[in-house]
Amino acid sequence: MKIAILPGDGIGPEIVAEAVRVLGALDLKFETETALVGGAAYDAHGHPLPEATLKLAREADAILFGAVGDWKYDKLDRPLRPEQAILGLRKQLGLFANFRPALCYPQLTHASSLKPELVAGLDILIIRELTGDIYFGQPRGRRTAVDGHFPGAEEAFDTMRYSRPEIERIAHVAFQAARKRSKKVTSVDKANVLETFQFWKDVVTEVHAQYPDVELQHMYVDNAAMQLVKAPKAFDVVVTGNMFGDILSDEAAMLTGSIGMLPSASLDKDNKGLYEPSHGSAPDIAGKGVANPLATILSVAMMLRYTLNQNAAADRIESAVQSVLSAGLRTGDIWSEGTTKVGTRAMGDAVVAAVAGTTKTITTKT
Ligand code: NAD
Repeated sequence: MKIAILPGDGIGPEIVAEAVRVLGALDLKFETETALVGGAAYDAHGHPLPEATLKLAREADAILFGAVGDWKYDKLDRPLRPEQAILGLRKQLGLFANFRPALCYPQLTHASSLKPELVAGLDILIIRELTGDIYFGQPRGRRTAVDGHFPGAEEAFDTMRYSRPEIERIAHVAFQAARKRSKKVTSVDKANVLETFQFWKDVVTEVHAQYPDVELQHMYVDNAAMQLVKAPKAFDVVVTGNMFGDILSDEAAMLTGSIGMLPSASLDKDNKGLYEPSHGSAPDIAGKGVANPLATILSVAMMLRYTLNQNAAADRIESAVQSVLSAGLRTGDIWSEGTTKVGTRAMGDAVVAAVAGTTKTITTKT
């Protein structure tokens, strides 16, 4: 099994390094190969997704991705910005289904900004369509852009579109995922205003006819944003388009205490996948050794489960994360009174030790 390692920018290299160490602590044989992506690739090769990186990603069985982006690239023309690398990988590799679980660990109930009783036991799965919608629409109003901005321009535009097959395949993924959970899907749209999402709603309803055992409800995105903070446990599987999913999955992530805890998987039709934390490159804390590596470590567990069919190894990583949390170790983003604040490396050390079945006492506070 070959895993492409794409650390990227900002905290990407720091958190991916810990995830790779955890992978190494399992008694499994993997070939890994690392390549530049995002701003780091732009600096070295003049493009955020160089041909060699794309080739590696295509050839690998799975991809472990850190994060890309930094404000210093904001002046670049859009196709050269770091974020285009992740959009390019999704599109080129057909990674259309983004799984973002939002799980509230019992040890972190108090890290949420919501009342503990609202989030205790929270376990929802947001399934975001990843290769269509307004992020990939044509035409785009970029013709007059200078350095990525529009001096003197009177308008800019992006086009929202979805095709029937794009909606059908993500709807099937959602209904099938719901069958393995509590058999309830909420499809989020904006059918009251947007033609694209009336079409979305119609097609999801049609596909639902093949899943009579699964309950389907439709919800407008503004209401979904409200319900997610009012009664998040009322949801189970949420399926939505690329842009609404982008926003709602970050909102759901925060319900659980920190975006630093949440893994994600982006899968193609054969379950080959790119695995990455739900958060970005966090340039504000990059290089300080304080980033939470758990979302990336848990992304490795998702990789083992969804693509590499190594469920036992995935369980080991997830149990190890639970045990370090139970031992009271916290990076700054999830720290609370009475717990021990540790940095990225120390958190990685603790998970590696727990995966290897040894315990390690952390004494350093950062
Ligand atoms: P972000 O997720 O990088 O950071 C938001 C906040 O969360 C920051 O305060 C950050 O310090 C904190 N945070 C994020 N991850 C953390 C972690 N593991 N541990 C502790 N704290 C963490 O979002 P942003 O600031 O809006 O974006 C920064 C850059 O990341 C931008 O260039 C953006 O385009 C890019 N981005 C990339 C991806 C990706 O690579 N898939 C996703 C989202 C944003």
